Amino acid sequence: MRDVRSSGSSPCAACKLLRRRCAPGCIFAPYFPSEEPLMFASVHKVFGASNVNKMLQDLPEHKRGDAVSSMVYEANARLRDPVYGCVGVISALQHQIAQLQTQLALAQAELVRFRVFSSHSDSVRAELQLSDHSIAEYRKTENVSIAEEGLHQSMNALSNSPWTTS
Ligand SMILES: [Zn+2]
Repeated sequence: MRDVRSSGSSPCAACKLLRRRCAPGCIFAPYFPSEEPLMFASVHKVFGASNVNKMLQDLPEHKRGDAVSSMVYEANARLRDPVYGCVGVISALQHQIAQLQTQLALAQAELVRFRVFSSHSDSVRAELQLSDHSIAEYRKTENVSIAEEGLHQSMNALSNSPWTTS
């Protein structure tokens, strides 16, 4: 994927941080360009440079780019959430999916209700009033308030997740 070799005399981000000479063929150079120093800094903080080095050595070259993406993502998540790391993000997203499915089911139920009511044109007005009342009743139920609260929390978690960082 990433193929930014350290150009000329400028060392890659890893060698710069480790204060060593960036030799030609440096294993970090294709994946940790000098213009993105934070990528290696996070990975080094969480995994340690020598472990990252070992992991890359153990992988065939075509898999190293994906491994680096994964390590950078996991390291950033771990720095944000030292207890759960990226598992926290995954469960927040799963929670959000469940809440959205609940909302969707409620919306579909309302849609069916409106279709049924509108097919009985004589009683449309009365039925719509009934439906408005039903919506108000729905909103009072615990399920909806839990769903809305969950959605709100999920949105917050999502906006703080490493997906949204540059
Ligand atoms: Zn280097």
